[in-house]
Amino acid sequence: VTLVVRGCDVLAAPGRELRADVDLVVEGARIAAIEPSGAAPHAGATVIDGRRLLAIPGLVNAHTHSPENPLRGVGEGLTLEPWLRVMLDVSGPYDAEDHYVCALAGAVEMLRSGATAVVDHLLMTPPRTEAVDAVMRAYRDVGMRAAVAPMVDDLDFTGDLARACGLPDEGAYSRQRRHLPAAELAAQLDDVMCRWQGAEGRLDVLAGPSGVQWCGDELLLALADVAARHGAGLHLHLLETFVQAVACRTLFGQGAVRRLDVLGVLGRCSLAHAVWLEDDDVAILAERGAVVVHNPAANLRLASGRAPVRALLDGGVTVALGTDGAASSDNQVMWDQLKLAALVHADPWRPGIRALEALTMATAGGAAVLGMGEELSTLEPGRLADVTLLDRSGDGLAGAADLEVALALSETGRGVRHVLVGGELVVRDGRCTRVDEDAARARLREQAERRRTRRPGAATRSAAAQLERLRQAVWSRNVEDAAGARRRG
Ligand SMILES: [Zn+2]
Repeated sequence: VTLVVRGCDVLAAPGRELRADVDLVVEGARIAAIEPSGAAPHAGATVIDGRRLLAIPGLVNAHTHSPENPLRGVGEGLTLEPWLRVMLDVSGPYDAEDHYVCALAGAVEMLRSGATAVVDHLLMTPPRTEAVDAVMRAYRDVGMRAAVAPMVDDLDFTGDLARACGLPDEGAYSRQRRHLPAAELAAQLDDVMCRWQGAEGRLDVLAGPSGVQWCGDELLLALADVAARHGAGLHLHLLETFVQAVACRTLFGQGAVRRLDVLGVLGRCSLAHAVWLEDDDVAILAERGAVVVHNPAANLRLASGRAPVRALLDGGVTVALGTDGAASSDNQVMWDQLKLAALVHADPWRPGIRALEALTMATAGGAAVLGMGEELSTLEPGRLADVTLLDRSGDGLAGAADLEVALALSETGRGVRHVLVGGELVVRDGRCTRVDEDAARARLREQAERRRTRRPGAATRSAAAQLERLRQAVWSRNVEDAAGARRRG
């Protein structure tokens, strides 16, 4: 036995009965026992005083972009299409060290607030293996469980969509990107999967096509092929905005989910957002076992709309929870997402999402995205010891009349005391044990200062305005479709 949390309370998973005053016994990376406190001496083990502490499965942030960590507040007030253009323009270049710093500081923020695992959909301009390696090293150094999905694309839809709306094609978005051939992107993915898949027992790589409307068939199929050879999944954006839904119809003549299904790549897919699903999409996603990642803060900030989470859950789709990048959700704290997910979906005419469901999304849902199922999201002997220990006497939980509801709605992350990943104490007394977290934040701030000097210039402002005009044109031409989709959601 390597570690014992003595005398804590354990919530094995949302909805399970609370076990009070027990010893959580960890052997190596896994939970060895949960037994009445003091039942065994466990001589030689590291002992953590668990009195007043509540052990829950570590939260999984199932969708973010670490390079956005020094871009908080960027493009506030803009909708997704202009926001993306402004964000890409003002962020400027990243070398491998910049990527390392972004991932490290984000991991510190997540771990200290009780998230033990992350899916980092890694935006790079241009995609390259050194950047992926740097991000992998950051998660390895800080001790966080991570799946990194190198984000790639090779298609731009704005020109076609603008023409379809009768607007001049001003190439507002495409000038920004440098597209690499599909074969080269697939070779890069194969290379990083060969070197990092399963590393340290905590690191993984997913294929990361940027989004359905940003990738041609050849690229999607090449990435899916590499992923299948490595037994890995795909992680991509899906139907975040109504503009994207219309773009898919215009570009492919079919809905985004249908296209993925026809290409045969929906099997081990996790899909961020899924705000603008069509009628049959929920059934298709459920049938194929695809997982949806809900990102309520980013959807609200970018005025993207509200994902049909109630319909997804009722239709049998597994839903996970993510912060999305810090340039659109402005922090990497999962408690904010829990609260939003549990609050924003209720309407006077139908039920919303319950606190317990939000907690399940943030734990079991995230584990499904990582392809790890109950192994990660349940505190039981034999399962991985990814555990968040919260102060039951802290501001969030001291007044809890209903513990699980208070976890989702009252806790802010300030009550996180210790965090275990793979049985290792990576946060102790609120501080990261493996890295100098003050230095990590100082380096992130340096980077934020450097990038802050890059204000949006005239060309960026004009492109953003074109994209906003395009968005408005799409809306005004498809008012009835949009209204129908909103009614269904
Ligand atoms: Zn995203």
